[in-house]
Amino acid sequence: MLILGRVWTFDPERPRASAVAVRGDRVVAVGEAADLRVRYPAEPRVQADWITPGLHESHAHPLAWGLALAHLDLRGERDPHAVARRVAAAAAKAPAGAWILGGGYVFDAYPEADLLDAAAPQHPVFLESRDLHGAWVNRRALAAAGIGPQTPDPEGGRFLRDADGRPTGYLLERAVGRLREALPRPTRDDLMRGLEDLARRGFVAVHAMGEIPEASRWIRELARSGRLPLRVAWTERREQAPSWSPEKIGESLHVFGVKYFADGALTSRTAWMLAPYPDGGHGMPLDDPRQADEEVAEALARGFAPVWHAIGSRALRELLDLVERLEARGLPVRERMRVEHVQHVVDADLPRLAGLALSVQPQHARDDRAAIERLGPGRAREAYRWGAFAALPGVSLLLGSDAPVAPPDPAEALSLAQDHPLPGIRGVSLDQALEAFTHAPAAFLGWHREAAPWGVIRPGARAAMTLWDRSQPVARLWRNAVEPL
Ligand SMILES: [Zn+2]
Repeated sequence: MLILGRVWTFDPERPRASAVAVRGDRVVAVGEAADLRVRYPAEPRVQADWITPGLHESHAHPLAWGLALAHLDLRGERDPHAVARRVAAAAAKAPAGAWILGGGYVFDAYPEADLLDAAAPQHPVFLESRDLHGAWVNRRALAAAGIGPQTPDPEGGRFLRDADGRPTGYLLERAVGRLREALPRPTRDDLMRGLEDLARRGFVAVHAMGEIPEASRWIRELARSGRLPLRVAWTERREQAPSWSPEKIGESLHVFGVKYFADGALTSRTAWMLAPYPDGGHGMPLDDPRQADEEVAEALARGFAPVWHAIGSRALRELLDLVERLEARGLPVRERMRVEHVQHVVDADLPRLAGLALSVQPQHARDDRAAIERLGPGRAREAYRWGAFAALPGVSLLLGSDAPVAPPDPAEALSLAQDHPLPGIRGVSLDQALEAFTHAPAAFLGWHREAAPWGVIRPGARAAMTLWDRSQPVARLWRNAVEPL
């Protein structure tokens, strides 16, 4: 097949082209359309606006995303009756007895009892409020959790009750946890649903950033069965790492990293900061980089990439100190480590990021804008500095969404990466953004040096590509077929 359009090859010998010839699942020629039309006169033609190596979702949680897709998305709902109608519609399509799960509503008053029972008499229903501090359930759900009139309120929680003391189905704080224990455990199908959705959005690879322990087994089973709809780069949780080593299952699965959390998150004010939050407090370390030297040295010795979540300015400073201590021991930590989120970096630490892989999520900058502005004007300019990162020598930027935190929408991330959502902060160029979405994440994993290289369009490369129209992925070239999205 002959694909015609504006080609970003990420091959230094021919960075740009206007046609790519593909046979089987390999690229056979890259060049100008006029030449390749003559050389391949009988090949079927595919016209695209842009052609790039296949997209990587460089930071996502595919199991959690699969679960989110299966749940009712109730964001924006304020009326319990409207929610009950949506539950009834979902129940009409679900086998009797199956759980109806959802969340995201905000109610001004607690909903009346019986509304959910009438909407879904045959299904247990569990719906969480947007702030995750309350839940609305029906009687079947209460029964499944063994909650009745005799059940006492847990410490720090409450079951709302009617005049006879019967729980009405609205649960506050710790009472929600009692019900959660009765919910179905995630399954391999939930993981597969998340992966299939990513493939349908044009991604050829996902970097999965930590899931429940069972998922490590499921992903290996799926890889061995040959059913994965995209290539998966997997990180193990830190607690599990001693029992694993890096592993490749064909071109399906690459277990490459160990995930650490240097700190929490901005909106919960647990991101670990050098300067305090407006209401006091500096956030907190989780896996403290000051005590991680031996563990990270061990991960490197095993061949793993240490993958560090680090959001606050203090977390990043301590992580950079760790990098420098390990470098002084001669360890290849700067080449192999990657830092996830990299949200708040003070000027003094900016140059110390040179040579690192930095994984950023442009949609978070937009969604965090209010929380960043609350930090104060001097602090906002320390946030989400992708443009400054890209200008540092040797930095490899990787783009992702952190789904389910934000939807894995590559067009939105590509646009926000260039047109920075925070005032006065530099974004990156289109070329840099496309590189961070395709070539850089493949190269970080070493896939550009495989027998059939990924992340680059040149003769011999694996024909895993994304085709674009007006800055939007519209098809992917995958296993010898063009899949429209
Ligand atoms: Zn994440």
